[in-house]
Amino acid sequence: MSTHDESATLLAPGAGLERLTTGATWAEGPLWLPESRQVRFSDVRTNRILQWDYASGEASVFREAAEYANGRALDHRGNVVQCSHGRRGLEQEGPHGARVLVDRWEGGRFNSPNDVVVARDGSIWFTDPPYGLQPGGEEGYPGPQDYEGCFVFRHTPETGETTPVVTSVVHPNGIAFSLDERILYVSDTGHDAGHLEACHILAFPLRDMTVEGPGTVFAAPPNGASDGFTLDREGRLWTSAGDGVYVYASDGGLLARLPVPETVSNVCFGGDAGNELFITATTSLYRIRTLTTGPSVADFRVS
Ligand code: MG
Repeated sequence: MSTHDESATLLAPGAGLERLTTGATWAEGPLWLPESRQVRFSDVRTNRILQWDYASGEASVFREAAEYANGRALDHRGNVVQCSHGRRGLEQEGPHGARVLVDRWEGGRFNSPNDVVVARDGSIWFTDPPYGLQPGGEEGYPGPQDYEGCFVFRHTPETGETTPVVTSVVHPNGIAFSLDERILYVSDTGHDAGHLEACHILAFPLRDMTVEGPGTVFAAPPNGASDGFTLDREGRLWTSAGDGVYVYASDGGLLARLPVPETVSNVCFGGDAGNELFITATTSLYRIRTLTTGPSVADFRVS
């Protein structure tokens, strides 16, 4: 496994970390919106959704009283699908606000969906840790869980079917697929509940979009947790951590660490050329220019 620093091959020449906007409390869930050329992200703990505009460089409030929205993704029609701690479900943004797509499984509510990814077949996969239910109400409405555990679910909009796909993770959090959709990556942040070993990214084998085996440890950033992550077009995984962004090769080898001066929660690729990495980190949204892009949108269209 490679552990040398490959920052020079990953980042644009002379690229530096830029702070685009600040003033959030806990920024998370960044998503590049190609049509409006904006980065939308959540400030979970002030219960707002924010946006940063690519053309003007200005940030604004997209929604107050946002029901503690967290992670989001585009579906194949270009709709924003996002996790809602407050609604304890998945919702879809529309012209008249957000509407719930699904908020229960076998009669009970989810915990507080945290992060989401859309598969090539259109199914929506999301993690369901309990952070929105915790005492204190910083990230939602305190309350009991309706089912025991914290699962990863797959929701199929066409049929309305929702199925648990991973039930072995303490606190599933970040989620992504390998480019060939033969691996499901899920981070476990259960260390915050006393499961000190549960602080890593797991890789689950997939066959025909079914998890067919136990997860194995793929990577574990040495500082802090892997809250959220994304892949680039080469299949490398760019993950948040306590002290920056870590980039891992598909074999789990560490390629680079990009220092960030605040705890990082999540990342996404975007910009007009798709080669800019947007980073939500505690109070701020940052950007760094890279030599790669996210997997192209065309790769994720339903054929
Ligand atoms: Mg998260």
